[in-house]
Amino acid sequence: MNILFMGPPGAGKGTQAERIVEQFGVPHISTGDAFRKAIGEGTPIGLKAKEYIDQGLLVPDDVTVGIVRERLAQPDCEKGFLLDGFPRTLAQAEALDSILVELSRSLDHVINLSVDRDLLLARLTGRRICKSCGATYHVIYNPPKQEGVCDKCQGELYQRSDDSEEKVGTRLDEYINKTAPLLAYYEDKGLLRQVDGEKEIDTVTSEIVSLLR
Ligand code: ADP
Ligand code: ADP
Ligand code: ADP
Repeated sequence: MNILFMGPPGAGKGTQAERIVEQFGVPHISTGDAFRKAIGEGTPIGLKAKEYIDQGLLVPDDVTVGIVRERLAQPDCEKGFLLDGFPRTLAQAEALDSILVELSRSLDHVINLSVDRDLLLARLTGRRICKSCGATYHVIYNPPKQEGVCDKCQGELYQRSDDSEEKVGTRLDEYINKTAPLLAYYEDKGLLRQVDGEKEIDTVTSEIVSLLR
């Protein structure tokens, strides 16, 4: 099963992806996670990506497409994959199409999570991430049992520097200008399915699962 999650920053893509990959047994491919890992390791790609991420801007297409091309060619993606946060531009969507043709694969489902701007702001500024396992929490909507500590691995939670109020506005603008037009691209292919991302986390998961079955 080859799945793509679309939606603005804060819509719940990562949260839902964690659950769906567990249930469907496919790898979770998040370009944001890949960039944060590369930044943490100080690799050349990480250094390049950091220049853009720190400003709330999209990382250039060539850098981003390279990462996905490499990842999709790995053997564990043969059983399927869940792409989260890629593609985010029309050029990336077209590159993905050609990568999939090369691999003799195609997308089965494109799921768009929609959430209003005000709620996105509240979700992003309250988001916390586990330093060790990457699990996502929210200080109000999805708090860990113990403040600042991951329920799953006891890792330390941190706030992403691009989740600050000043950067979130730029990121939402990038989404509206560069990523939202992609919805029409997948609508035209007949692949797009809409899910109301404002509902409870469990409800959203059930709705996604029912679309995937
Ligand atoms: P994305 O990957 O789309 O940017 P996340 O999954 O990281 O979004 O979610 C953004 C924030 O909103 C996180 O703090 C998460 O805990 C919270 N969140 C996700 N889904 C919901 C939901 N359905 N209801 C309330 N809060 C949510
Ligand atoms: P969110 O969960 O809030 O949607 P991500 O973790 O997916 O954010 O992405 C964080 C940042 O990484 C983005 O703001 C952007 O700078 C960069 N990034 C992630 N995916 C892409 C992509 N497909 N194209 C360009 N930049 C990306
Ligand atoms: P910074 O404040 O360095 O611009 P972040 O706020 O995104 O970056 O991250 C805070 C800290 O957590 C940094 O030291 C960063 O290296 C580390 N970090 C970020 N993402 C991850 C990750 N996915 N796994 C482990 N550590 C991370």
